[in-house]
Amino acid sequence: MENQYQFDLERYITPERFARIKEFAADKETPFLVIDLEKIGQKYDELIGTLPFAKIYYAVKANPNEEVIRLLIEKGSSFDIASVYELDFILSLGASPDRISYGNTIKKAKDIAYAYSKGVRLFATDSEGDLEKIGKNAPGSKVFFRILTDGSGADWPLSRKFGAHPDTIYYLILRAPELGLKPYGISFHVGSQQRDIGQWDHAISTCKYLFDSAAKEGIQLQMVNLGGGFPADYISPTQKTSLYGSEITRFLREDFGDNLPEVIVEPGRSLAGDAGILVTEIVLISRKSEANQYSWMYLDVGKFGGLIETLDESIKYPIYSEKTGPVQETILAGPTCDSMDILYENEKYKLPESLVDGDRLYIFTTGAYTQSYSSICFNGFPPLRAYVLDEEK
Ligand SMILES: *Cc1c(COP(=O)(O)O)cnc(C)c1O
Repeated sequence: MENQYQFDLERYITPERFARIKEFAADKETPFLVIDLEKIGQKYDELIGTLPFAKIYYAVKANPNEEVIRLLIEKGSSFDIASVYELDFILSLGASPDRISYGNTIKKAKDIAYAYSKGVRLFATDSEGDLEKIGKNAPGSKVFFRILTDGSGADWPLSRKFGAHPDTIYYLILRAPELGLKPYGISFHVGSQQRDIGQWDHAISTCKYLFDSAAKEGIQLQMVNLGGGFPADYISPTQKTSLYGSEITRFLREDFGDNLPEVIVEPGRSLAGDAGILVTEIVLISRKSEANQYSWMYLDVGKFGGLIETLDESIKYPIYSEKTGPVQETILAGPTCDSMDILYENEKYKLPESLVDGDRLYIFTTGAYTQSYSSICFNGFPPLRAYVLDEEK
């Protein structure tokens, strides 16, 4: 039996839901993403259920689909934006600027001024240069300071580029009032798809240390921003959202006691990831030599069509075929003429050997960081299309 194709479909979707998606997908040209809105709503409710005192700022970059944003506006979400383009987009869909945080620490002065003119009053920072720009272009705004984390334990680490050492942050906190700004809170991001819940513990302690240090100088910080990092369900299992919630709550209580500060979370992947199913077609199956143990399978989607998080094989997507029978160890690649467009070579996916050119595969957990990453017509292939499945319509 070991040689037989196995895939636990019901871990990712109910048979009824899958049948619905298959029917919806049947007449459409691949590749494309199907976004299951209901799932995004469920993931939002699940997170708020386990962290009821927290305010959700959805990280727009994970999936900026219009209907996804509309749903989240309806559910009362706030938004973490990274550019004036995301800002305009979110405002155009009716979110008010007091529900928007400018979370990118890398900003042009004119973009800060633009966000301010649109009513944004909450900005992230991690450097003196950026803080001065905010002071000049968004006077009186609240600022929160991002501390450096090392990203260990995360499948998609965000270390090094963002955040500063606590000593530097302490200096910036004291500097903010001199620049006419309100030092408001501390933020961090423990790395995306973070498997080690303990990473929040250390970061929260650093927040508390900075709260205390600032208080000694008469500055009362009010907010802790726990960032993203909550997982989606790829191949290797993670702990449940509820355990993330209960552990993080425990860490907060250990440091802050009963008087919790205002708490913000910025989920992207964990809200959108599980809601996406990417439908792809096998373009070609080949073998490099007669004796070669592995076959190469080229799909009509690859790194440039939305699966860039397969870089270093960091994110391992569950890939499903409806065929059964004996398996073949397979190297998976995309359709473009760039030789880096290989999805998995070290990790050999075991797929049915009966698969042939033209068969469809379903790639689960592709709702986050796929469409927004897909390239503009590299080799002429259009950016990844998405259809939203909304049962209520
Ligand atoms: C990308 C990003 C997030 C979202 O992270 P996920 O791990 O996808 O939840 C949150 N906050 C900031 C500042 C980000 O850049």
